[in-house]
Amino acid sequence: MPDLRQLHKYWQTLPIRVRGTVIIAIPVTCLFTALSAFAWLKASLVEDETWVQHTQTVRLETKNLLNALIDAETGVRGYGLTQRDQFLTPYNRAQTVIPRSLDQLERLVQDNPEQTRRIRDIRVLVAENLAILQQKLTLQRELRRIHTGVDTLVPAASLYEWLEEGRTTMDEARLAIDRFIQTEEDLLTQRKQHQDFYRQITWMALCISGIIGTVGAWFAIHLFYQLERELANREVALRQTNERLENACDQLQRFTANASHELRAPLAAMLSNAQIGLMDLEDLEEPAPPLHKRLNKIVSLTKQMSGLVDELLFLARHEGLLAAETLQPVDLTNLLHQLKADWLPQAQAHQLQLIEQLPSHPVIVKADACLLRQAVANLLSNACRYTAAGGTVKLRLLVQGNQSLIQVEDSGIGIPPDALPHVFERFYRVDSKRSKASGGMGLGLAIAQQITQAHRGQISVTSTVGKGSVFQIVLPTSAALID
Ligand code: ADP
Repeated sequence: MPDLRQLHKYWQTLPIRVRGTVIIAIPVTCLFTALSAFAWLKASLVEDETWVQHTQTVRLETKNLLNALIDAETGVRGYGLTQRDQFLTPYNRAQTVIPRSLDQLERLVQDNPEQTRRIRDIRVLVAENLAILQQKLTLQRELRRIHTGVDTLVPAASLYEWLEEGRTTMDEARLAIDRFIQTEEDLLTQRKQHQDFYRQITWMALCISGIIGTVGAWFAIHLFYQLERELANREVALRQTNERLENACDQLQRFTANASHELRAPLAAMLSNAQIGLMDLEDLEEPAPPLHKRLNKIVSLTKQMSGLVDELLFLARHEGLLAAETLQPVDLTNLLHQLKADWLPQAQAHQLQLIEQLPSHPVIVKADACLLRQAVANLLSNACRYTAAGGTVKLRLLVQGNQSLIQVEDSGIGIPPDALPHVFERFYRVDSKRSKASGGMGLGLAIAQQITQAHRGQISVTSTVGKGSVFQIVLPTSAALID
């Protein structure tokens, strides 16, 4: 006896896809088995039915043959007694019926070698019989002519003698036909028994498949409901986990926002105090270089810290997709043109050439213009910081199908291949030394990515160390919005 509890436990561990398949397979298999059994039995019954019909045809044809033979004999006997030609009509008819019947019978039993042999024997005996009858008829007419020279009756006694001579052959033929018919009767009985047996089996198979099918269907329904309950439970558990996760995320986001906000005030106070201290020092008659240097350091660190806090606050505030109502049609051509103008002084300060490659027509996307400006500005800032003097920075806009491609290309130091997958991670810096020199905290690209994704866009980078990098932002452009 299988341990049902163990079986149930094992069943629960199976993947839902497997269990679903089993649940569907049970009734389908039951139905298929029942239908196959039914079809097979039905086919057997049909075959039996055909056989029964066939055997009955053989019996009928044999009876025809027997009757024709009797007709032939009776006809000759009647003619002999009466000398009237009308008595020869059954004999003449039998002459055509008998060969046809024999041919028909031979064709009908051609699958049964024993019956075929018998019918051939019968054919020989019947031929002998017919020959004897024909002979007697001829002799009778001859004798009449010899004795009388005219058409007078032959004595009945001599006719009976002739007929008796053929009786043995006739009996043999009848016996052979009886044996043949008996075999057919036996075959018919066998077939009928077979048919009855299969009829019973069909009913039994139908009943059993019905029972199995009902039990199988009930079992499948039970398993189905169980699976559905489990799925519902899982859905509830998943929803609860999701809610908990969302709460945790919200909390974290609130914490980051609050913490950044709380840090801003003291940082601003530190910065202003340090700057006032610097101004006071400048008013002194005697210079105090070490103190001046320290205060300058405090100002620079505080500015850096404020920048970091601003960026953290930005990331915390702009988590997730942007609401549709906050998006406005923005002309990217115009936005990038303005950005180029804004960044030109900084590029020149780094002795870089800033080139714009923009289409002559407006390219409209639905976006938050300030955020988009911030994302591209971060890319431009990096391009300027990580490109040595004399290099080039290109700002490009392309339209491909229903997508707008913003590209910032530089001829700077490039990014090593193993660092490429990580550059968009928060606080990731390829090499802290070079980032430190450029004043980066590893958040610029994370912010650019967050803004792009909030617009349902994608950001990517290709780079070659020593040759430069290309950062690309892809935004969906509504075809209706492109002029
Ligand atoms: P950071 O503020 O440190 O620059 P980012 O998130 O903007 O932080 O960039 C992450 C890292 O990717 C940087 O530390 C820098 O090494 C690398 N990086 C970003 N942009 C470029 C660029 N245009 N050329 C070379 N390296 C870059």
